[in-house]
Amino acid sequence: MRIGIIGAGQLGQMLALAGFPLALGFRFLDSSPDAPGARVAPIVTGAFDDLASLRALAAEVDLVTYEFENVPVSALQEMAATRPCFPPVEALRVSQDRVLEKELFGRLGIPTPPFRTVDSRVELEAAVAAIGLPCVLKTRRLGYDGRGQRVLRRRADVAAAWEALGAAPLILEGFVAFDREVSIVGARSTTGETRAYPIVTNTHRAGILRVTVAPTRDARLQRAAEDHLRRVMDHFGYVGVLTLEFFVERGRLVANEMAPRVHNSGHWSIEGAVTSQFENHLRAILGLPLGDTSPVGHSAMVNFIGTMPERGRVLAIPGVHLHDYGKAPRPGRKLGHGTVVARTAAERDAVLRRLLRLIPR
Ligand code: AMP
Repeated sequence: MRIGIIGAGQLGQMLALAGFPLALGFRFLDSSPDAPGARVAPIVTGAFDDLASLRALAAEVDLVTYEFENVPVSALQEMAATRPCFPPVEALRVSQDRVLEKELFGRLGIPTPPFRTVDSRVELEAAVAAIGLPCVLKTRRLGYDGRGQRVLRRRADVAAAWEALGAAPLILEGFVAFDREVSIVGARSTTGETRAYPIVTNTHRAGILRVTVAPTRDARLQRAAEDHLRRVMDHFGYVGVLTLEFFVERGRLVANEMAPRVHNSGHWSIEGAVTSQFENHLRAILGLPLGDTSPVGHSAMVNFIGTMPERGRVLAIPGVHLHDYGKAPRPGRKLGHGTVVARTAAERDAVLRRLLRLIPR
């Protein structure tokens, strides 16, 4: 059995690594021949919307999945016509547009921040008046890791934000004064079996995930997050791993966004859970029994962003697992991560503090 993965970034690489013990083979499609995945499986080099490249990938594999959201829907449709393709194209389409995503959450009874679509300066003024300050202006599409968004705190910020983002279709959201951010990762298989991981707490800096702490033990929030996840999965007849990100505002979940793929806030599960999100994604798309999502201890994952800490210094900390994606350093780029797994939360926090000392503040 050979699986095609659209995108050969670190998520694709970790998917392939999880598949080798199951005797699965892999091919990637990526525009860059030396993307991280190149170290573990051949890459069909080409643009994600190039028909000849998509067909070349399809010809070599039994099944197709993807590791990032900005795959053109038309490309995936093209693939889905010849090979089983998971997660469903419709989930990808909705996840690519923050307005469609929030409208869906609303229909499914999942709370979101207040929002308005914005296509003109006049609509922006009206949306700011309706939602109030502070608020967040974002591009509807192609935004990730905090790119394509501006927080508006004063009236005077409106003009500059419009200047910066106004060329694209936009969404204005109410600013959520959150207590913390959490996410849930779950898997649904072709058989309809579902499993969810424990919710985790995420800390972002400049819109980029920096630290994930797992698990977050809160039975009420866990139940609510699992309920929201199941609703979204059932809506799409979902297959694969799905992630929902939430703000916790005054003790209640407010949905920020969904990702129809394995997720950075699930990396801890490689060493910190009985079955990793990567293996469960593969099991789900192959219709195999899903693996246990229980944590095996107390974990924390730290992203290495822009620069890699010295390898020897990371490995010198007992209990830390290093993942170096082998990417060229660039500001804001995720180059690797380190995961701590410990027997107790206190032990985990002590090791986490040592790890955090190795990266820029
Ligand atoms: P996003 O690209 O939507 O995931 O946003 C990246 C990060 O920006 C989030 O994880 C939050 O830390 C912050 N953020 C995004 N939207 C809001 C909002 N409506 N209110 C407060 N903070 C936000």
